[in-house]
Amino acid sequence: MAKTRKRRSMLYIPGNNAAMIQQGGVYGADCVLLDLEDSIAPGEKDAARILLKHTIPAVNFYGAEVVVRVNHLDTPFGRDDIREIVPIQPDALRVPKIESADDALRVIGLIEEKLKTARAKGFIFDGFPRTLAQADALGALLKRSGQELDAVIEMRVDDEALVDRISGRYTCGNCGEVYHDRTKPTAKPGVCDVCGSTDLRRRADDNAESLKQRLMEYYKKTSPLMGYYYAAGELFTVDGLADIDAVAKSIADVLDRAKGA
Ligand SMILES: [Zn+2]
Repeated sequence: MAKTRKRRSMLYIPGNNAAMIQQGGVYGADCVLLDLEDSIAPGEKDAARILLKHTIPAVNFYGAEVVVRVNHLDTPFGRDDIREIVPIQPDALRVPKIESADDALRVIGLIEEKLKTARAKGFIFDGFPRTLAQADALGALLKRSGQELDAVIEMRVDDEALVDRISGRYTCGNCGEVYHDRTKPTAKPGVCDVCGSTDLRRRADDNAESLKQRLMEYYKKTSPLMGYYYAAGELFTVDGLADIDAVAKSIADVLDRAKGA
């Protein structure tokens, strides 16, 4: 592997966009993320996977790190993604949200199976592990395969600020513009500033009550992991409420530091 380049910028490319993938290296991003998940419609997943399988080894990414975001295992596509993508050895796989220990063990099992035949150079787990049992399972797997975690990144947010930020949010159903009750209301109540639509929507679970429940769940099950990884010297904390570019840069810095260590 020995990528010495710092990861300051990431370019997201939908995995079915052959033209953008071919050009993926020329934009100068430090990391190219090829997506099979959210940006690909279900009917196009298989074609996108096949496209990536053939283009990743053939395209010159000019030294950029190549990461593939695969589908969740509960979808019909997740297993195929891991089976097909691990052997072509991207620099990392990004595995989307995992909700249970069983899910986690299934992902780990599939990756382990594939690691025996071909070695992916790294992984980013997004929202995993969420419990101490999952953390132990992951630790045991890594040990067996002679690998180590480079870093565990906690995106720290102030609870009240988080609830305030999320619960006030609404979007225009027509053009997608995002508004907020307090920080960015529409100029005219109930009417989108950009397109004039009156179809303004709130997500059902973006309310203070359900967010508090989600936070309680986090404190009960996930927050003990901070102590667990802190004790192992692997925990890094970034400010999750900074703007998106700043958060991305903080994470990139952490990974550079952790790998350089
Ligand atoms: Zn609009």
